[in-house]
Amino acid sequence: MSLLNDLINLNISEVTKKCIAEYIWIDGFGKLRSKARTLPAPVTDPAELPKWNFDGSSMGQAPGEDSEIIIYPQAIFPDPFRRGNHILVLCDAYTPDGKPIPSNKRHGAAEIFSRPEVAAEEPWYGIEQEYTLLQRDVVWPLGWPLGGFPGPQGPYYCGIGADKSFGRDIVDAHYKACLYAGINISGINGEVMPAQWEFQIGPAVGISAGDQIWVARYILERITEIAGVVLSLDPKPIQGDWNGAGAHANYSTNSMRGDGGYEVIKEAIHKLSLRHKEHISAYGEGNERRLTGRHETASIDSFSWGVANRGASVRVGRETERDGKGYFEDRRPASNMDPYVVTSMIAETTIVWKP
Ligand code: ADP
Ligand code: MN
Ligand code: MN
Ligand code: MN
Repeated sequence: MSLLNDLINLNISEVTKKCIAEYIWIDGFGKLRSKARTLPAPVTDPAELPKWNFDGSSMGQAPGEDSEIIIYPQAIFPDPFRRGNHILVLCDAYTPDGKPIPSNKRHGAAEIFSRPEVAAEEPWYGIEQEYTLLQRDVVWPLGWPLGGFPGPQGPYYCGIGADKSFGRDIVDAHYKACLYAGINISGINGEVMPAQWEFQIGPAVGISAGDQIWVARYILERITEIAGVVLSLDPKPIQGDWNGAGAHANYSTNSMRGDGGYEVIKEAIHKLSLRHKEHISAYGEGNERRLTGRHETASIDSFSWGVANRGASVRVGRETERDGKGYFEDRRPASNMDPYVVTSMIAETTIVWKP
């Protein structure tokens, strides 16, 4: 075991300039995939990296007879697993003639964020990614008795102790690994349902919010793989009196952060209310199981907002009301949402769209 560990941790820069790039992309089912290639020397700019191809037919992305998909490097992160000069490379996917494939949601999001009126507003996002850790063989939450349930919710949120906190080693390993990778992770906490956790990314500007959430998810699934635990982003992993998992999107623009910002925030919330159905349909699969109007959620069927109201679709913080400027929180997105879709849609509705 120790020789294996020694080899995994070999510092190859003592003998070679070569380094390893782990290319990451999103498959046709919204799951992450990756494969590695050797680079002749360290790279820091994604534009210096070669494009790469893969066989899309096994990943729901291309028909078998023309299965080639090309992935384009878009962002680089230091690799917390291999360390040294090794990197994680976040990519998006195209057909051989350069068209984004349907599951490539980054391309459309980047287009929205590059519009002059959107870029001028410097949209900030703080995404609260909730997730659940499952025991591998039984697909049942970590620390829960087999064939049974733990005591009712109450003591678990931000709880400590072997009977209340399940999987902290994974959570903490992920926290430091994200900081190593240069991800702007702003915190972690244990959630209301035991074995459910949250990390927050942000504030992150524009497309980088989606990039950072996807890479943070990637790092998390690699760490759970090492631990022999299964990562679930299902919005309601356990039916009944157990909280679901969301991905609240905290959001602000230059105008909202400046004097008089609260008026801009109220106008943005009004526009979101007019497009409630469209947003809900883009906010994650199975969200209707989570947005029941119970367990700190609003009903999926109607839009509501309020100051300090955790039972509303959109919440404005007390601080923002008091200061007359700041940010608001869209509480509707599910844990399995695509952050490219959610962040760009919020910007499009609140900045670009004229009702
Ligand atoms: P909650 O109280 O809902 O649990 P969290 O503290 O978990 O909120 O997450 C709040 C997120 O909002 C953090 O990621 C934080 O960085 C982000 N945030 C803070 N200020 C702003 C802002 N002005 N615009 C957008 N996001 C912000
Ligand atoms: Mn939170
Ligand atoms: Mn939470
Ligand atoms: Mn929140």
